[in-house]
Amino acid sequence: MSARKPPAPGKAHCSACDAVCCRLTVVLQASDHIPDHLTTHTANGLHVMAKDPEGWCVAMDGARMNCGIYETRPSVCRRFVMNGPYCRAVRAEHDEQHAQVASLTPA
Ligand code: SF4
Ligand code: SF4
Repeated sequence: MSARKPPAPGKAHCSACDAVCCRLTVVLQASDHIPDHLTTHTANGLHVMAKDPEGWCVAMDGARMNCGIYETRPSVCRRFVMNGPYCRAVRAEHDEQHAQVASLTPA
């Protein structure tokens, strides 16, 4: 999606990342105040951020590749620490998927 250079393994900054964490399922808490049109319910009843057809959170500003509701973003998103364990894990998984796609692409 982005032509930006991928972050070095183990070290990243949100400004140079494809915001891969914004494809995760964000479960909303009672304390979150997210407009209804940005949320949905899963089949098992969880209240979550809605996703677009490509799997991105609908609050993502696709032009800027950042959160369009940053000031009021869900508590789960506030706790997601850049370069923390979940950040590293989701980036590693993303890199692995890209590597698999690249290896399947004819030269
Ligand atoms: S928190 Fe991690 S995965 Fe999310 S945008 Fe920042 S660097 Fe990327
Ligand atoms: S609410 Fe914002 S930070 Fe949280 S997943 Fe959506 S776009 Fe990303």
